[in-house]
Amino acid sequence: MLRTMGSAGVVVAEDTHGREKSRKSGWLWPVGVMATGFAGVVLVALRGCWHRRMSWPVRMQGHAYQVCLGCGAKRLFDEEHFRAYGPYRYDLNELIAWKKASNTEKRTLPHVERPAS
Ligand SMILES: [Zn+2]
Repeated sequence: MLRTMGSAGVVVAEDTHGREKSRKSGWLWPVGVMATGFAGVVLVALRGCWHRRMSWPVRMQGHAYQVCLGCGAKRLFDEEHFRAYGPYRYDLNELIAWKKASNTEKRTLPHVERPAS
């Protein structure tokens, strides 16, 4: 099953928050890959790269992202929660556009700050 990149070029990985079982589940890894989303799988199909080795997060114009050491795919990185999110893209501008689009949706969420007890 392979989604073609449509005219919009948007292949969004549906990240279920924080559920990536990267290390623990040896035999479960295909499930983990599927849960991680299809964007990575599509790039795997194209490049034969699993994006296993990601660079240390790089910050650029207020955006943090990681770069795959194998093929150069980029992925946004959440410094607050210290995890990567969103689709894999080779073009940083596409990631920034994706981020802006998703940010406008999430902006309605209440900003919760835990009071220091
Ligand atoms: Zn890669």
